[in-house]
Amino acid sequence: MFEATCHCGAVRMKIAAQPPWLTLCNCSLCRRLGALWLHCHPAEVEFTAGADATKAYLQGDRTLEMHHCTTCGCTTHWSPVGNGDRMAVNARLIDPEAIAGLRVRHLDGAETFAYLD
Ligand SMILES: [Zn+2]
Repeated sequence: MFEATCHCGAVRMKIAAQPPWLTLCNCSLCRRLGALWLHCHPAEVEFTAGADATKAYLQGDRTLEMHHCTTCGCTTHWSPVGNGDRMAVNARLIDPEAIAGLRVRHLDGAETFAYLD
């Protein structure tokens, strides 16, 4: 179980997933946001606060919503448009000690969509 909180505390999530790794992506959006992704199933994420305190940004292909806190601006998560079975929480919102043991993998989201290791 991980807990994620944006800087101002408006958005709070509990994540029941045990991810095998965290992901850094170099796509045009992720590299700008600097997010560290914890991928999971939407059913594994519970918003304990602020489920309606984020604003979504849809990039070109409109397949996912990139959310940020409307108060402090932190990137909080992305979720699928419609009924998808994958989402990701920004692990930068989790206590660093809680994720210290997790491997970090680099995803080439800009070109091949393969992991670079
Ligand atoms: Zn906030």
